[in-house]
Amino acid sequence: MEIGKKLEEICGKNNVSDSKLDLIVYNSDLASLPPVISKLYDIKPAKYVVRPSSTSQISEILKLANEKKIPITPRAGATAGLGGALAVSGGIILDLTSLDKIIEFNSKTNYVTVESGVSWKKLIKYLTKFNRKIGIHPSSSPSATVGGFISSGGYAGIGAPKFGPISEQIVNFEVVLPTGEILIVKPPFSSTFIGAEGTLGIVTKICLKTYPIKGITALTFGFKNMRSAVQGVLELLKKGIQPYHLMLVDKNFLNLSRKLGIDIPKHDLMVFIALEGSLENLGLQKEKILKILTNGELFNGGVASEEWDRRYNAELFIKRAGPSMILLEIGLSLADITEFVSQYYELCEEKDIEVGLIGILGHGNTMLCMPFLLTDERKGMDYLKLLSLSREIISIGVGVGGTVYGVGLHNTPYLNYIYSTETLNLFTELKKFLDPDNILNPGKIIERKVPDQLSPKPPKQKR
Ligand SMILES: Cc1cc2nc3c(=O)[nH]c(=O)nc-3n(C[C@H](O)[C@H](O)[C@H](O)COP(=O)(O)OP(=O)(O)OC[C@H]3O[C@@H](n4cnc5c(N)ncnc54)[C@H](O)[C@@H]3O)c2cc1C
Repeated sequence: MEIGKKLEEICGKNNVSDSKLDLIVYNSDLASLPPVISKLYDIKPAKYVVRPSSTSQISEILKLANEKKIPITPRAGATAGLGGALAVSGGIILDLTSLDKIIEFNSKTNYVTVESGVSWKKLIKYLTKFNRKIGIHPSSSPSATVGGFISSGGYAGIGAPKFGPISEQIVNFEVVLPTGEILIVKPPFSSTFIGAEGTLGIVTKICLKTYPIKGITALTFGFKNMRSAVQGVLELLKKGIQPYHLMLVDKNFLNLSRKLGIDIPKHDLMVFIALEGSLENLGLQKEKILKILTNGELFNGGVASEEWDRRYNAELFIKRAGPSMILLEIGLSLADITEFVSQYYELCEEKDIEVGLIGILGHGNTMLCMPFLLTDERKGMDYLKLLSLSREIISIGVGVGGTVYGVGLHNTPYLNYIYSTETLNLFTELKKFLDPDNILNPGKIIERKVPDQLSPKPPKQKR
C-alpha cells in the first residue's frame, strides 16, 4: 500500500497532507530558511505532514517509518529557530501539536501530567486554577510546547535562576523510540532525551512537579555600560539575592524597541529583575537590591511592571522591524559577558550593522545571550551577509569560553563547543543503538548539512 494511505489509516484522512502549500508552511520555522540557504544546505523537503493525536499513533508511524526507512522530523511549536524542526532529508513531518491534552493535576502529589504538544501558555493558565506553577518556562510560552522545551534542553527561561532547568522539574516522561517501542523514563535516565532535539525518540507524555504561585515584584535599573551592569548582577548573586527572572537589554535593543513605540527611559543598558515571594519577603529583597545596585539608576513610573507584562512579547515583537530574524543563543558565564560584548560591538561596528542583544540569567552564574539579527529573507544576499555575521558572533562567544545553546540544523559546525568529546561519542553510540537506520530527525546534531563556505571562522580558543 502507498505510504500516504497507510498514514491515513493510522491517523485519519484529515490528519495527513501532501499538499504543496502545507509542505511549504511546515518547511519553515521561526527563523525561516530562504531558498538560497535551502540550496546551499541541499535540503530535501518532506513529502507528507502528519498530525498524530496519540502515543499509539506515533508508535505505529515510527514502526512504518522503520520498516520503509522513511525519515521522520518531529515538530512542535517550531519556535526554536535553529532548523531542528525542519525536514531536510525528505520523509514525514510529525506535527505534535495535536497531542494537546492536559491529563491531570494531582492535588496530593502536586504533579501535573500533560501531553507533549501542550503549549506552555495553556499549561500556565490551567495551573493557575490550582494556584500552582512549573518552576521554569520559556519566554516563547505562547507558542512553545512542553515537549519542545524538554527536547531543546530547557536550560534557561523564566524562573530558571530560582528553580533550575526543566530537567529538575521532571518526575517522568513517556517516549516513543525510533523502533516504535514505548518507554517511561525517570531521572537520571530521562536526561538522555532532554536536549536530544528529537533525534533519539519522541516525547509524548510528561509528568512535572509544580510549586505554589507567589507574589511577584519587578524592578528595572538603567546602567551606563555592560561592565557596571554585570558587576551589579554578580554582586546581587554573591549577596544571596535569588531573582525569579533577570534580563539585560542592551542599547541597540532599547533603541529598536523605542522606534517600535515602546516607552523606555533613555539609558545604554537596562537590567530587569523579577522577584518572587511573600509580601514581606519581597519588601526585604527589594530593599537589599536597592542597597547593592547603587551604580544603577532605578526606573520609576511603572516601567518594571510594563516589562513584566510584556515578558512573552518583548523579544519577538522586535521581528516586526525585520521581517525575518536569525536567532542566536549563546550561553556565557557572567564573568565572560563583558569581553564577549566588547568584541561583539567591535564586529558590528566594523560591519556597520546594529544588532540588539538580550541576556537572560539562567541557573548559577550563566547567562543566555541572544543577539537578534533582523533581515529580510526575500533579499538573498542581505540574508547571507547577516548569516555570516551571526557565525562570527558565535565564534566570538565560544572564543571567550561560551557555548552555543542548541544545535538543530544551523549550529552543527559548533558541536565541539557544545558537547565534550566524551558526550559526543556517547551520543553517537546511543544514536546508532536506538536508531540504526537513522530515521529520526536525520541531518541534525551529529550530522552536518552546513557546507564549508558557510562554516564559521575558527574560534580563538577551543573548550
Ligand atoms: C522569542 C523567543 C523566546 C525564547 N525564549 C526561550 C527561553 O526562555 N528559553 C529557552 O530555552 N528557549 C527559548 N526560546 C527557544 C525556543 O522557543 C524553545 O526552545 C522552545 O521550548 C521550543 O519549543 P517548540 O515547541 O517550539 O519546539 P520546536 O521548535 O518545534 O522543536 C525544537 C526541537 O525539538 C524537537 N521536538 C519538538 N517536540 C518534540 C517532542 N515532543 N519529542 C521529541 N522531539 C521534539 C524538534 O524536532 C526540534 O528539533 C525562545 C525562542 C523565541 C523565538
